[in-house]
Amino acid sequence: MIGCTEHGVPKLAKCGVNQRNTTHCSMKISKIEHLGIAVKSIEESLPYYEQVLGFECYNIETVEDQKVRTAFLKVGETKIELLEATSPESTIAKFIENRGEGIHHIAYKIEDGVANALAECEQKEIRTIDKAPRTGAEGLQIAFLHPKSTKGVLTELCEE
Ligand code: ZN
Repeated sequence: MIGCTEHGVPKLAKCGVNQRNTTHCSMKISKIEHLGIAVKSIEESLPYYEQVLGFECYNIETVEDQKVRTAFLKVGETKIELLEATSPESTIAKFIENRGEGIHHIAYKIEDGVANALAECEQKEIRTIDKAPRTGAEGLQIAFLHPKSTKGVLTELCEE
């Protein structure tokens, strides 16, 4: 939705509904799929989410190639993803080292293909971390956009 006036996003320099082919947003985002939160320890974090906020953790899994363990909790139509490093080289370990525990990324649910959305982002000169979709936690197809291009928010695009 970069500079998409039809969706009420403030118009940017490159936006123009008259130049649909190059600048209109065609990717369809239906909701915030989850918020990713970096934690030092899932076990130490879960009591807060479960006993204070009353969310239910329904899945914990390790994503080997990301060197993370993830725990998912449902919050209405969306989810919280707790991320714990399984190695000091994990990006989560580095994130916590630099910035401490906290919100790590936002994930949007894409309805018409992460590959299409990635291509559209590249066309709009948004820096992508993944050049092609890959399999993430919960078997979703995911790809990340670089925070340098997304106003400081590490952004994950995902689809079922
Ligand atoms: Zn995520």
